[in-house]
This record gives sequence, C-alpha cells and structure tokens, in this order.
Amino acid sequence: MRETFHVNNDGYFGDFGGAYIPEILYNNVETLRNAYKKIINDTRFQHEYNRLLADYAGRPSPLYHARRLSEKYRCKIYLKREDLNHTGSHKINNAIGQILLAREMGKTRIIAETGAGQHGVATATVCALMNMKCIVYMGETDVERQHLNVQKMKMLGAEVVPVISGNRTLKDATNEAIRDWCSHPADTYYVIGSTVGPHPYPDMVARLQSVISKEIKKQLTEKEHREYPDYLIACVGGGSNAAGTIYEYMDNRAVRILLAEAGGKGIDSGKSAATIHLGTTGIIHGAKTLLMQTEDGQIEEPYSISAGLDYPGVGPMHANMAKHKRSEVLAVDDDEALDAAMELTQLEGIIPALESAHALGILKKKQFNPDDVIVLCLSGRGDKDMETYINTTNNPKITTKI
Ligand SMILES: *Cc1c(COP(=O)(O)O)cnc(C)c1O
Repeated sequence: MRETFHVNNDGYFGDFGGAYIPEILYNNVETLRNAYKKIINDTRFQHEYNRLLADYAGRPSPLYHARRLSEKYRCKIYLKREDLNHTGSHKINNAIGQILLAREMGKTRIIAETGAGQHGVATATVCALMNMKCIVYMGETDVERQHLNVQKMKMLGAEVVPVISGNRTLKDATNEAIRDWCSHPADTYYVIGSTVGPHPYPDMVARLQSVISKEIKKQLTEKEHREYPDYLIACVGGGSNAAGTIYEYMDNRAVRILLAEAGGKGIDSGKSAATIHLGTTGIIHGAKTLLMQTEDGQIEEPYSISAGLDYPGVGPMHANMAKHKRSEVLAVDDDEALDAAMELTQLEGIIPALESAHALGILKKKQFNPDDVIVLCLSGRGDKDMETYINTTNNPKITTKI
C-alpha cells in the first residue's frame, strides 16, 4: 500500500487522532461525521461554498512573487496571500464551510472558541451573514488583550462569554465550549477553528482549508509551468493554515515541507509553545496528539508572543507527519518572528500577522538554492498585532537592517 499522510477510516493519522469524547457527545460526533461525509461532496454545498469563497471572502487569494525578499534569500519566494481574505486571515475559509454544514444539518445555534479572536471574528461574521445565533467563548485574559476583536464580534451580533477558569486563555475557552456542546447537543453546532479536536474535525478543517493548495497548484502552473514547489512553508498553531497549504502535496515527496512552531522565549526557557519539540503523546480536546504536559499529565501553560500560536497541543495530522519526518518543524522564537515581520514590511510593504511572521522566520534558518521555488503561506495580516509591534519597536533585539 502507498504510504499516505491522510486520515484513515477510523479517524487516525498514524498513531494520532481519534475521538476521545464524553459519552453524551457520542451521538453528536457520530451524526456530524456522517453528515460531513455526505454534505461536503454534495454539488449544491460545493457550489454555495465556492460562491461564498469567491464573492464574499475574495478568493482566489493571489500567489505573489516577492522579488525583494527572494533577492535577499537567493531563491524564488512566492507568498500565498491569505492575509487579503475578508476578516484578514485563512480562518474565514473554514468558518464559511462549517456554518454552511451546520445549516444543512438543521442546527440553529453556533458556538466557537477563540484565542486571539480571529476565529471568533470569522465565525461571528459568517453567522451574521447567515442569520445564525452565535456564542463565542474566550478566556478573560484574551478578552482584555484582544479588545478590538471583542468589539467586532459584538458588533456582528455575537455573544462573547469571558472564561475565568485556568489560565483564562484558549485552552480554557475550548473546555468551556465543549461543556456548552455537552449541555445543548440537539440544536448546537460547534465550529472548531483549527485542525484539532475529535475526528472528524481535524480532517474536515484540513479539507475546508485545502482550497489554499488547490489554488497554489493552479497558480504555480501558470507562473512556473509545474504544479508543485520545492518547498512549502507555513506556521503551525493547531495546524489549519499549514494543513491547507500542504494538503494537495502531502503524499508528493518532491515537495519539502517546513513548518514553524512558536519557540516563545526559547524552547528551553520554560516559556514556549513549541509543542512538536516539547510535547509527548496524550489526549487534549478529544484527540490523541502531542501536547505539552508534566510527567503526571497536567497540561503545561504555553507561551508565545503570538496569541494564535499559543496552544499546548497540535493537530494530529501534524504530529504524525513530524514523527515520520514528512515535515521538518523548526521553532521560531518571539524575537526572530518580530525581526522577520519588520523585514517583510520594509522589503515588500506587507505587514504580516505575528503568526505568519513565524513562518517567515524559517527563511533565515535554512539554506536554499537559487533555483528553488518556495511557497510560503502568509496566513494573516498584521492589523491585530499593531500594538505588539509598536511596543517592541524599541526592542534592541530587533536587529533587521535592510
Ligand atoms: C489562528 C491563526 C493561525 C494559527 O492557526 P492554525 O490553525 O495553525 O493555522 C495562524 N495565522 C493566523 C493569521 C491566524 O489567525
């Protein structure tokens, strides 16, 4: 049998994945699994999904040849411009797909968890569009840190529920969303924002994001007269923009996959979110995967300057690909990401999201050949991170000189 990195029939990616859920959710997850398989291939669903991706989200996103950046790293770098999507990141691709699915399933109440607020805003946006009730769980710490996104969600008509358990961040918001789902299984659809959670979510989110690599194939064929690059580069929080970027190429060994996880203040500093470097196998939010935990199984608090990468787990697809060396995962620290953000801004006139800046940080860590074609997923724009950029401008550690 040909080796594959796609999900198997039982919902596993190698040893990782599955659905480890409380009994009360068993029927819900089973119904979702069956509905998802049927609906996602349905012509009417595909038509509506593609229509909204095009006319509402603004797809296809451009594949931009970044000439000055390429010159600096002596190779040919294309940026996949997910930052130009409506609401400012790749998250809208998934939100549109899942909320359409929820509507097909007859659900009337949408819940979501959010960290930085990007998934919350994308979900609230599509709920406004489709006239659905929307409740977003968000850690109280994040509510304070991401004030603008909270205001956006409220303006869009969502109810934002601050979560006061644990560290009051994404992990705690996710726990609360799962609790809500357990108490309203009949009318509620839970929109998960990344390739995490119980099967079928990791596979479903990857498929809904795979539009990214489908477009890359087409665009590269036009620009390079071949449909694959030498390298794909993306950042990994839960893993959805990376999954979308690599989906069409996972089983094509000619394409090398480089992924950036958040090193924080350094992987040995105790303040990091580099789950693939530091994690061990365990169960988090319904999936078996790598997670940052103590020897007795307590989840360790992750840290990253970027709220979107600040998660103690990682999608099972990425745990498996890293284990089998299909992907190479590099830890990019806060300072390296800030440096890379400044560099892109000054070379190309594009202010990236802090998450995407971690992907850019890989360019300094690898040696490329002049004829290498690289596609890097610019997952989001930097508007939401302006405060962080402003507060670190005087940081002497940002050394970029152009
Ligand atoms: C949420 C987010 C991420 C991290 O999530 P993934 O599921 O790993 O893609 C990365 N970039 C941006 C801009 C985000 O908003």
